[in-house]
Amino acid sequence: MKYISTRGQAPALEFEDVLLTGLASDGGLYVPETLPHYSLETIRSWRDLPYDQLAFKIIQPFIGGAIDDATLQTMLTETYAGFGHKAVAPLAQLDHNEYVLELFQGPTLAFKDFALQLLGRLLDHVLTKRNEKAVIIGATSGDTGSAAIEGCKHSDHLDIFIMHPNNRVSEVQRKQMTTIKGDNVFNLAVEGNFDDCQSMVKACFADQAFLKGERRLVAVNSINWARIMAQVVYYFYASLNLGGPDREMAFSVPTGNFGDIFAGYLAKKMGLPVKQLIVATNQNDILHRTISQNKYEKLPLAHTLSPSMDIVVSSNFERLLFDVYGREGSALANLMDKMNVETVELDLEKMASVRETFDSHAVNDSTTCDTIKEVYDDTGYLLDPHTAIGVKAARECRRDANVPMITLGTAHPVKFTEAIEKAGLETPALPHHLSDLFEREERYDVIANELHALQAYVVKHVFSE
Ligand SMILES: *Cc1c(COP(=O)(O)O)cnc(C)c1O
Repeated sequence: MKYISTRGQAPALEFEDVLLTGLASDGGLYVPETLPHYSLETIRSWRDLPYDQLAFKIIQPFIGGAIDDATLQTMLTETYAGFGHKAVAPLAQLDHNEYVLELFQGPTLAFKDFALQLLGRLLDHVLTKRNEKAVIIGATSGDTGSAAIEGCKHSDHLDIFIMHPNNRVSEVQRKQMTTIKGDNVFNLAVEGNFDDCQSMVKACFADQAFLKGERRLVAVNSINWARIMAQVVYYFYASLNLGGPDREMAFSVPTGNFGDIFAGYLAKKMGLPVKQLIVATNQNDILHRTISQNKYEKLPLAHTLSPSMDIVVSSNFERLLFDVYGREGSALANLMDKMNVETVELDLEKMASVRETFDSHAVNDSTTCDTIKEVYDDTGYLLDPHTAIGVKAARECRRDANVPMITLGTAHPVKFTEAIEKAGLETPALPHHLSDLFEREERYDVIANELHALQAYVVKHVFSE
């Protein structure tokens, strides 16, 4: 399978190179040149597969010949054996035809484990084969960092540097990152905010000279195609467990960078009957304003009780727009340039095609807490604030009550105790494998909010061996 850039000017790449690349050289994002499409009969034949075997069916075509089948299956089995629930992605039922897909059973308790536990293994495999070493530099507002570190800590071919804004991630989130042991793991608390960390990551990718041509820089955020690919699997898994593909399903997805929901859109394009995809945002609602009012306008960042969805722009939306604009790279390059500097309206017929598949809803902090409380009172089920936004949006936007509504449960509530307390509820206990988290030793360095401070730190630790 070949991958092409959404902006049409970068070379097409094979899977391995896409895995090891961040942004395309023209500033675009990589997408498959063509998607596999499956008949209902084929999808039906997957109904009894356990998660790791279904993952093989979905993921193998995207990898092409880069990894042999037996190795890939072993990798997938090992990845998902590390999850805390035998079903990997179990469904919980809230009401008649209403479900939460629990994607927080992985080692770091958020859905990002689905992709990042696999990404670490894929990178290690490919780098070992090539006898190369790589450096990961990432920024996190919480969940990406711990999942990326957990996924990469065993690799001799990777050094991983994760920046978080000093004093601005929750204690559980920080400890999940800083208590992971590994000579190749470096946590940096930056004296700045998340955007500052993000800008430094971008600057490192734009000019990698500080790595002296001896190391490649690899992205772990959702611009990395391999993350999206891994997330397609659980849409199929949930559907197959509820009578798919012989019935349609609706999905509500708590959204920040549009990565997770884009995977749902791909599942639909690959043949899974999906009636409706709901974009659920917090107060940082650029996607909701775009879909509901056809107004793409950047507003300042708001800090909410669902911090993993605090974004100004959603980078993966570009991947959807690429399809909406007939996969014309040059048209998209112009559009993205425009979107960068001004408020944009899409052509009406293009907007209509977006709205055929997507609905959207934005939920503020106080309604998030009300939803957590209401669902707990009704069912005894405790939602984390991100998932609560998904459940609320699902209830507001549902098109057909006879179609099962599945909200993606993106995090365990123990990670976001502030919202739980504001909802007037007691915080749950840490799961067994993390029960001693607060006693574990932390390891991190505080650095100034300056690019050269970061790069000097990276160089010192990468080349000291
Ligand atoms: C990252 C994250 C999201 C948003 O996912 P995107 O792929 O960026 O849309 C939602 N909820 C939680 C808990 C997350 O960690």
